[in-house]
This record gives sequence, structure tokens and C-alpha cells, in this order.
Amino acid sequence: MKSWQITDFGAGAGISLNEIPEPPLGSGFVRIRVARTSVNHIDRLTIGGRFGWVTLPRTPGSEYVGTVEEVSPDAVDVFPGDRVAVFPKMFCGICRYCASGQESTCLGGWEPSRAPMDLSTNMLPVSMNGGWSETAVIPARNAVRLPENLSFDDAFGIPLSGMTAWHMIRRARTVPGEKAIVMGSGGAIGLSALQILKIHGVSVLAVSSTLAHMAELKRLGADAVSLPAQEELDRELLEFAGKTGVDIAIDPLGQSTFQRSFMSLSPGGRYVTCGSLTGASAELSILRLYSRQIELIGSTTGSKRDLADALEAASSGRLTMPVDSSYGFENVPAAVQRHSERGRFGKIRISVSE
Ligand SMILES: [Zn+2]
Repeated sequence: MKSWQITDFGAGAGISLNEIPEPPLGSGFVRIRVARTSVNHIDRLTIGGRFGWVTLPRTPGSEYVGTVEEVSPDAVDVFPGDRVAVFPKMFCGICRYCASGQESTCLGGWEPSRAPMDLSTNMLPVSMNGGWSETAVIPARNAVRLPENLSFDDAFGIPLSGMTAWHMIRRARTVPGEKAIVMGSGGAIGLSALQILKIHGVSVLAVSSTLAHMAELKRLGADAVSLPAQEELDRELLEFAGKTGVDIAIDPLGQSTFQRSFMSLSPGGRYVTCGSLTGASAELSILRLYSRQIELIGSTTGSKRDLADALEAASSGRLTMPVDSSYGFENVPAAVQRHSERGRFGKIRISVSE
């Protein structure tokens, strides 16, 4: 089979398309013929050597959907021909977190000696080969069946981006009628969060640094839009939520927008983040935190239930994933390049097979 592989983290860092034998199917595993995959930050971080202990060669591809081709004899509830999304994080299925549906908190496969704070270590493709390949093997429990009427083209951005956003909104404990600000609204997580908040009856002020995104954000349901510049954002926020501020701040960006998110919150407000792309540290006023009874909520990937709920919302047309650009399997390096550029709107799609 053909597979994109990272062969070196050093000066020759990058990926190459190689013809390799199909790996044997381990106990409890399934083989998937990959249909669509995408590019996410964790793929680029892995290629760039952020997780330097990863054994090479390694196939990136944190997010993919496809058809089950082969199952090991002890793989239950998954059958050849099933169309599935791949849950992008390894989990043991038996610990107290997994037993209560918190697969994203599972420590199975986590390597604390290597990344003491970072549960990304059990995500694809850090934990095992991902989906930039004609076929891929994963534990059967990571395969989640797609709703019948959901096409691969509409499903491919749900397993990581859609699920991560769904989990953030669940963690935010939204109440219909509340108001939210969404930072990084042009990104796949921001776009998903905007739509999922609307599904839950929450009004949204969508913030994007690209003026050209505004009309599309409104079409996807944003009640108000703003550029992130302080003066404009203050004005839009005042008009949107009055002097008290918003109930929820969804912020996948990290350091660059933390203060603006935090300061936009009303008493009792909840700040939810799932990323630190712009930096991992922030200063905050402890006085403001306790006196306004604000909650800071961390969120990473999601649960199988979040994935199933997001797929269901996609199949009913309530959660759509705008596609920034599409690439064939031979053009993965161009897709990776596009992901590194500013001003993207939505997902980068890679078609591997029909
Ligand atoms: Zn577990």
C-alpha cells in the first residue's frame, strides 16, 4: 500500500510517499480503507519533531474516515463494509474514566516521562500511524459507525474538529438563551463551535481576523461578528452583550486572545479552551476570577459520545464543515503547506479513495 511517512525529524524533515507492506492485523484491531483525511495542527507538530520520541517512520493523519476492510477475530461490534469515523485518541476502555464516558481523560497509552502535562501523547499520530495512507489499522473500539446518510465528504472533519468543539460546548454547560464569544471563528474548531452553540440555543459573537470570513460566519448562524482588534471588539461586544459581558468564551487560540476572552465574561461566565497555538501561558486577575465567580475550563478532544453526537448533527445538516481546499492523495505536501497559511476558512480535505 502507499503511505505518507515521516522518515526524519532532522534537517531533512518532511514526509515522503512510500510503498510499504500492509501491517499485520493485531488482536482487537481493524483495517480501514481510508476515504477522506485532513491536516490538523497535531500532524504538523508531529512532522516538525514536537514529539521527538515518536519512532520513525510514522504516518501522520490524525483525522480520517473510511470503510472497514478486515477485522481481527476478536474485534467485536465492527464488521467489514462498515463506514466509520476514527476516534482520534487511544483509550483503554476499562479504566474509571473510560467507564464513565470520559475517553479523552484516559491515561491508557500516556507516556508521562516524555510529556508530563500533555495528554496529546495518546492522540493520533503521536500514539500510532494515522490516516495519510491507503489503509490504516486501529483498535476496533476506535471505530465509530457513520450515520447512514452521512457522506465521507460531510463526515471527514468531524472526528477531530467537530468532536473537539462538541466537547468544549458540553463542558461549558450552556443554557438556551445564553451568549457566547467564539475566538478563531474561521478555523475548523471555531466554525464547529459556532454552529454547535446555535444548536444549543446560544447566541454567538464570532471573532475572526479575516474580514472576508464575516459574511460566511453570519450565514452559518453568527448573530454578530467582529475582527479581534481591541477597539472594534469592545464596540461589538458592548452591542452584543451589554456592559455585563458574555456567559461563555470559546477560545481555541491560547495566549494571544486569553485576556480578551477572559475580560469579556459576565459574572458566572465560563472560559473554555482546547488549544495553545499562539502560546501556552497567560496572566489573569485572581481578583476578577473569584469576585465574578468565573470558571476556567480545559477541554481536549472529546468522548465517543461527543463524536457520535457531532456525527448525528452533521447527518441532519445542523453541523456543516466548510472546506477551505481539497487535495488528492498524491498532493498531501501541498495540503500541509496550505494548512500553514493564514486566512484559511474551514477544513483541508484530502481524498484518498472513493
Ligand atoms: Zn481508559
